[in-house]
Amino acid sequence: MTKTKIINYIGGELVPPVSNTFFDNIEPATGKPYSLTADSDEQDVANAVVAAESAFNTWQLTSIDERAAVLMRLADLIDQNAEALAQAESVDNGKPVSLAQQVDIPRASSNIRFFAHAITQYASESHTMANEAINYTLRDPIGIVACISPWNLPLYLFTWKIAPALAAGNCVIAKPSEITPMTAFLLSSLCQQAGLPPGVLNILHGYGHKVGEAIITHPKIKAISFTGGTKTGAHIASLAAPKFKKLSLELGGKNPAVIFADICNDEPDLDTFDDVVTQVARASFANQGQICLCSSRIYIERPIYEKFKRALIAKVSQLNVGDPKDVNTQQGAIVSQQHLNKILSYIQLAKEEGGTILLGGEQRYIEGRCNEGYFIEPTLIEGLPLNCRTNQEEIFGPVATLQPFDNTEEALALANGTEYGLAATVWSNNIKRCHSFAQQLDFGIVWVNTWLMRDLRTPFGGMKQSGVGREGGVEALRFFTEAKNVCIKY
Ligand code: NDP
Repeated sequence: MTKTKIINYIGGELVPPVSNTFFDNIEPATGKPYSLTADSDEQDVANAVVAAESAFNTWQLTSIDERAAVLMRLADLIDQNAEALAQAESVDNGKPVSLAQQVDIPRASSNIRFFAHAITQYASESHTMANEAINYTLRDPIGIVACISPWNLPLYLFTWKIAPALAAGNCVIAKPSEITPMTAFLLSSLCQQAGLPPGVLNILHGYGHKVGEAIITHPKIKAISFTGGTKTGAHIASLAAPKFKKLSLELGGKNPAVIFADICNDEPDLDTFDDVVTQVARASFANQGQICLCSSRIYIERPIYEKFKRALIAKVSQLNVGDPKDVNTQQGAIVSQQHLNKILSYIQLAKEEGGTILLGGEQRYIEGRCNEGYFIEPTLIEGLPLNCRTNQEEIFGPVATLQPFDNTEEALALANGTEYGLAATVWSNNIKRCHSFAQQLDFGIVWVNTWLMRDLRTPFGGMKQSGVGREGGVEALRFFTEAKNVCIKY
């Protein structure tokens, strides 16, 4: 059977890479190649820049109503093709198809619809100076911008970046991860059907270090919105900063969940102990732990430590690991052989550092179609101090550590005790305590008695090594526009 060729979308056309070379795209659940990805390079970037340049003048002058309308058509087309996109996402990434159906694809169309609405409400400021002058601030599109996204939530994060950039009137050169390019490729045809003018969005496929780097270093690309690992983010910043490109970096995390003993004081309108166990399990293991927001360090107040530990082990051990295509699967495949090896090496490291494996800890072999796929048992570990590598470095897999704490000060020191600052969760029935704790956490996002509850208007991003800048709502529209203040003397 001939394999699908994942090709570029440039100037409104689907085109092979100039080099006409491709590499295998692997299905993580089987470990086998199932399609071919364009191995693009700087020649494809040059063509995309020409297409984007010629589209920019018209697109920036297109009325916001028209820009919003074309984005709404694109969102509708994603909804109409939701099932096919969810199946494709699951095959390409290894995530359970139910997750792609319920989260990834609906969120992709919401992202586009949200920014289509948002641009129609986007207003700039004016500042009057008594009887002397008035200032008004223009917020114009930047020009050609780059959007680079990772493999863990492929279409979800791809659309999260391109939607505000396009809505604000920019032309975009976007690259999905070479590990999960399929749904961005499928989006190309939907853009054609939606009537997105040629060159407004250009999607290039290939390796990060090759075509990705050619995009971010191209002199005509003025802003870069990047989501990915902290090391890659630092590298991109080192290339972009001397050229004074505008940068938004959404990077890694090592997120704490802090659970206070008062969750056992059931009150009618607050979470019960069982609910918290269920939600902490979900927060740690959704998408095989491969969400930048997943909790990987679980801190439990000592009086309920043993009880919570036993309940969490019981809950996590029930997670159904298996073929992502099966609607009953809750834990699918790890995205690649390389990432599987990385996670297994961290489990080995945890043992060497003195950790006790409470659950899992091994590669899982699945009979039948998936017998060469990349599966790992959901893993819980205890007995490790804060300063060991297992508790300091991002593993980005189905692995979480447990540790007791004795008071609020200790919990705060543990939670804040890494170089990362993306997302923290706090679980308590004492809302006053939650508020004061949240104020002292060095994290860009704090969830109290919930996880991954997203309002797209809120600022999204990390502190410390988890990133620079914020996405979401007005923050994203500000990033993708250039502010120019005009001062008129009366
Ligand atoms: P990477 O940093 O490896 O890659 C991210 C993207 O950058 C990919 O498209 C990659 O392409 C590309 N890339 C790699 N090298 C370069 C380069 N030199 N120049 C330009 N582009 C490049 O991250 P992963 O894909 O492995 O994603 C996992 C990471 O993303 C985790 O650390 C996770 O925490 C983080 N993340 C952060 C989020 C946040 O909102 N803060 C959300 C989701 C994930 P290719 O894959 O083709 O090499």
